[in-house]
Amino acid sequence: MRMIFMGPPGAGKGTQATVVAGRFGIPAISTGDIFRANVSEGTPLGLEAKRYMDAGEYVPDSVTNEMVRNRIAEPDAEPGFLLDGYPRTLAQVEELDGMLADAGRSLDVVVVLTVDADELVQRLLKRAETSGRSDDTEDVIRHRQDVYTEQTAPLIDVYRDRGLLLEVDGLGEVDEVTARILSALDGRGSAAS
Ligand code: AMP
Repeated sequence: MRMIFMGPPGAGKGTQATVVAGRFGIPAISTGDIFRANVSEGTPLGLEAKRYMDAGEYVPDSVTNEMVRNRIAEPDAEPGFLLDGYPRTLAQVEELDGMLADAGRSLDVVVVLTVDADELVQRLLKRAETSGRSDDTEDVIRHRQDVYTEQTAPLIDVYRDRGLLLEVDGLGEVDEVTARILSALDGRGSAAS
């Protein structure tokens, strides 16, 4: 099972990605988490990424693509993986296509969590109280929403045209949304074991 999780910042993508990947026994690979781990370890990659993350901008593709290429080549990703937060640009879509083609693999499904924009800002401001994330301030949050709309939302059409898209309502309790995602995946014939 190779899947992608998409959704605007605050849609609950990370939480759902972890739970769903667990059900399928595949790693949830979050580019945001990998960047944050590098930032806290003070690696050169982390230092490079931090400038962009703090401004709510995307880290350059050259950095991000290489990181994903290496990560999905690790043994635990052999049976499959769930990518959380990648691809985020059309160029990253092409790059991922190339990585998968090189490995003789293909994508099974792209899950998009949909949530109303105002609800998202409220959720993120709430998360900001406890997350300690330096990109969880109101200005940066709003900017991240804009960047998502401009650069990432167009990917939805690309994957819809490929017949891979599964749109799921992301509003509600965590368990409710998980159940919705699993039943949508099941409906596509991709049941978790
Ligand atoms: P996230 O945890 O997915 O919200 O990601 C946090 C931040 O990491 C984003 O605002 C970007 O600065 C950076 N980031 C994560 N994934 C990507 C990606 N695929 N391309 C570029 N930047 C990314």
